[in-house]
Amino acid sequence: PSAPSTDRYTKSAAAHARARKVMPGGVSSPVRAYKAVGREPVTVVSGQGACVTDIDGNEYVDYVCSYGPLILGHAAPEVSSALAKAAQKGTSFGMPTEAETVLAEKIVDAVPGVEVVRFVNSGTEAAMSAIRLARAASGKNNIIKCTGCYHGHTDSLLVSAGSAATTLGVPSSPGVPQSVTEHTLLVPFNDLDAVRAAMQEHGSDIAAMAVEPIAGNMGCVPPAEGYLQGLRDLCDEFGIYLLFDEVMTGFRVDYGGAQKLYGVTPDLVCLGKVVGGGLPCAAYGGKEEVMRQVAPDGAMYQAGTLSGNPLAMAAGTAMLDSLAADDFAVYAQLEATAATLEAGLREAAAEAGCPIYLTRVGSMLCPFFVDAEGDEVHNYADATATRTDRYAAFFGTMLDEGVMLAPAAFEAWFVSTAHDEQAISQTLAAARKAFAAAAAI
Ligand code: PMP
Repeated sequence: PSAPSTDRYTKSAAAHARARKVMPGGVSSPVRAYKAVGREPVTVVSGQGACVTDIDGNEYVDYVCSYGPLILGHAAPEVSSALAKAAQKGTSFGMPTEAETVLAEKIVDAVPGVEVVRFVNSGTEAAMSAIRLARAASGKNNIIKCTGCYHGHTDSLLVSAGSAATTLGVPSSPGVPQSVTEHTLLVPFNDLDAVRAAMQEHGSDIAAMAVEPIAGNMGCVPPAEGYLQGLRDLCDEFGIYLLFDEVMTGFRVDYGGAQKLYGVTPDLVCLGKVVGGGLPCAAYGGKEEVMRQVAPDGAMYQAGTLSGNPLAMAAGTAMLDSLAADDFAVYAQLEATAATLEAGLREAAAEAGCPIYLTRVGSMLCPFFVDAEGDEVHNYADATATRTDRYAAFFGTMLDEGVMLAPAAFEAWFVSTAHDEQAISQTLAAARKAFAAAAAI
C-alpha cells in the first residue's frame, strides 16, 4: 500500500479513531474499514453528482456510488426533491400506501421474471426471503450457489469457501451452524458441468439454483456465452427454481436487469440498490404462482415494520422514472461514458506496463490485476488468484489523486450519469500514476 500523503487525511483519522471506540471497526459494514488495502478509511461528509467530499475537505470522483444504487450520482435532484416531498407527509405508517403499488407496478412492467413483488429493506432480506420461498414452494431443502457470488449475509447463503466442482457448504463466518449450510451446494461460476453434476447427485432435494447473473462481488465477472440459458435449461430439466440475484444488476445493466439483457427469465428475482434510489429498500419477486405463496396470500411467512417505506418508495419511483425517461436514454449515456473509461484504463495500464484483465457490462466494470498479460478471470478462483497487492497500491494512489474506489479488489466500479468528461479525464490522469505504482510492486 502507498503511504498516505502528509496531513491530507488528519480529520478522517481522528473521526475513525472516535468511531472505532463505539462501533466494530468504526464502521457499519466491514469493507468500509479499508482492511484489504492497508489504509485508514476516509470519512465522508457529502456527495454531489459524481463526487464525494471527505471530512478534511478533499474531493473525489466516486466509483463506489454506494456500491451501486447511485446510478444518477449523489443527491440527484429528481430523487432528492421526491424525497423531500414524501418526508413532509410522514416517514412511515405500517399501513398500505399507494406509493408501494406505484413502484411495484413499475417493477413488474420492467423486469421479465417479476409478476408479483414484495418489498423488503435490504438485499440480504430479499435473498433470504426468496430462498425461504423457493423451499416453501418446492418442499425441498438444498440450494445451489456459486462460489464467490454474494447474496447478503443470511446464514444459508454465507457460504463461499470450497474449490472442488461441487462441495458441501462450509460456513464463511463463525456463528453460522454447519447444519444450516450443509444444505448449500457450491459450484464455480460459469461452470454448467458442475451444476449438472450437483443436480444429478442431489436433484430430488434441490429447491433453487441461486446466481448473480453477472457476478459483481468477485469483481465484475460476466456470464460466459450460454451460461445463463444453460442454467435455465438445467433448472427446467430437474424441476428446480432459478433465482437471479439482481440486487446489483437490476435497473443497472438494463432497465429490465441482466435477465432482459441476456434474454433469460428466472423464476425468482432479488432486487435492491438502484430500485430504492439510495434508500434502504430491496424486493423479491417472481412468477405469480410462486409469489402467491407469500403470506398473507400463502403460508410462507415474511414481514417487515419498515418494508415498503414511503421514503424508499418515493426515491425508487423517482429513480425509475428518470431511468425510463426519453426511451431509456440514460443507458446509452452510461454505456458511452463507461466505454470511454474502459478504453482509457486499458491504455493507461498498457502504458504503465501493468497487466490487467478488464471486464465490463454497461456501467459496471472491473480491472483485475492479473499476473501476466493474457490471463483471464471467469470465476472466483481466477479472481482470487489476481494481484491484490497491486490493487492496494493502485487504490492508494487513486485515493491520493482524488478518485474514490472500493477499498477491496473484488468490487465492481459503478459509473453514474453524473460522471462527465471532466470526471473521466481526471480519473484517467490519476490512473496513469496509479497503474505505474501498481506495476512497480
Ligand atoms: N445480493 C447482491 C448481488 C449484492 O451485491 C448484495 C450487496 N452488495 C446483496 C445481495 C446484499 O444486499 P444488502 O447489502 O443490501 O443486504
